[in-house]
Amino acid sequence: MGKFSNCHSLLPNIYEECGVFGIYGHPEAANLTYLGLYALQHRGQEGAGICSSDGKNLYLDKSMGLVADIFTEKRLKKLSGNAAIGHNRYSTAGSSSLKNVQPFLVNYILGSIAVAHNGNLINAQNLKLELEKIGAIFQSNSDTEVILHLIARSIHDNPIERIQDALCRVMGAYSILFLDESQLIAARDPYGIRPLCIGLLDGAYVIASETCAFDLINAKYLRDVEPGEILVINERGLHSYNLLQQSTKKAYCVFEFIYFSRPDSYIFNYTPVNTIRKNFGRMLAKLSNRDADLVIPVPDSGVPAAIGFAEESGIPFDFGLIRNHYIGRTFIEPKHSIRHFGVKIKLNPVKDLLKDKRVIVVDDSIVRGTTSKKIVKMLRELGGAKEVHMCIASPPTIGPCFYGIDTPTRQELIASSHRIEEIRKYITADSLSYLTIEALKEVLPAPENYCLACFDGNYPIHFPKEESHQMSLLLV
Ligand code: AMP
Ligand code: SF4
Repeated sequence: MGKFSNCHSLLPNIYEECGVFGIYGHPEAANLTYLGLYALQHRGQEGAGICSSDGKNLYLDKSMGLVADIFTEKRLKKLSGNAAIGHNRYSTAGSSSLKNVQPFLVNYILGSIAVAHNGNLINAQNLKLELEKIGAIFQSNSDTEVILHLIARSIHDNPIERIQDALCRVMGAYSILFLDESQLIAARDPYGIRPLCIGLLDGAYVIASETCAFDLINAKYLRDVEPGEILVINERGLHSYNLLQQSTKKAYCVFEFIYFSRPDSYIFNYTPVNTIRKNFGRMLAKLSNRDADLVIPVPDSGVPAAIGFAEESGIPFDFGLIRNHYIGRTFIEPKHSIRHFGVKIKLNPVKDLLKDKRVIVVDDSIVRGTTSKKIVKMLRELGGAKEVHMCIASPPTIGPCFYGIDTPTRQELIASSHRIEEIRKYITADSLSYLTIEALKEVLPAPENYCLACFDGNYPIHFPKEESHQMSLLLV
């Protein structure tokens, strides 16, 4: 086992990127949750689950795979009731199994409760150890299970206070949904790191990670679940409690705008992702100030920024790389080696567009640098491009995320240990430009409310002392 694997085995399950959806008060609760999860599929493709309630019992179904492959009509029919929550889980290294797929459903002294969580808790290992010492048994290696144990052990006699109790003890990012026999409860951590919004459909309340889930089912956006808010939806309507310890500082994840959320969504107080992403591209064009014949995006993540870049620079835009959207997880490579097979399986250059052109390639980010390196080589060798200029619509990624975005350790992030010129040489581009942190902030509304830690190293929530060794392992 290599050094990283050893490190990772010591670490909590920090690689969670997820999507959540919930609905209360609709006769088609499970079907609509299925559609909501389908719209949020980009937030997690490893597995999905739905838990419904008919007022007396909770029904759970979950599986590995994609939403549309898992849920047949027959399976959805069994999820009866007018309330439901659902979850999409991201494909992650090392911890891929059904036991980690949410929602989790448990029985405790007050009845049944299910949970679906987006985000990552940074003190989960510590709490887990504490709980294990007094006899708790865990079935998954997900930090979310800790919350259920804390709820079950709380001394309060109503579920809302128990949830508040549990959430006051956890640290980190959570946009989280709970479902019991009679209510749907939504909560967001005091920093508001992950998005969570409320909508209305035929008098029923819906909650989703992103508004693209509302569009598919014709729900109307009402507002965000506020950072530090617990929202209870039951037959008496919607009630808001500000029960969590309030943080004056917000820390919305800027990476939701850069890469993770869908461009047709509105997140963090109804800010349009597409516009922000395009404006990152405009800023990048101003900063790089480069002449070329063509601007092309790395599809799909670079498309809005490339359009913004082209609009600002006046350089023609086109799709010089075509993406195959139907690739599975593994490919059987033929015995005789095929040049560029690894990247060609996903992307292929449009030769007549690229031949002898000076090309600007726009992508959202560079992590390890391997994708950019392969793309540059392919555009030159297969596409016949004369010059390849790589433009990245975010600042250099120098640190890992502890709050629910899948990033490798600091050592594996190329920009943590290499200067821009060294990265340019590595990816063999004619030039390499990044957005600056200042330019990124210029595009954001109220930039002081954002977490930029993977770019500037200012982590808004620190690991507790007992778990700081884990942070240092990832920051070495
Ligand atoms: P790399 O080859 O490691 O430099 O990866 C860069 C590519 O990964 C870019 O095309 C990004 O769009 C994409 N990317 C960035 N962040 C993530 C993430 N958290 N999960 C999956 N893909 C990502
Ligand atoms: Fe988002 Fe980066 Fe902050 Fe993680 S560290 S929450 S990816 S901005």
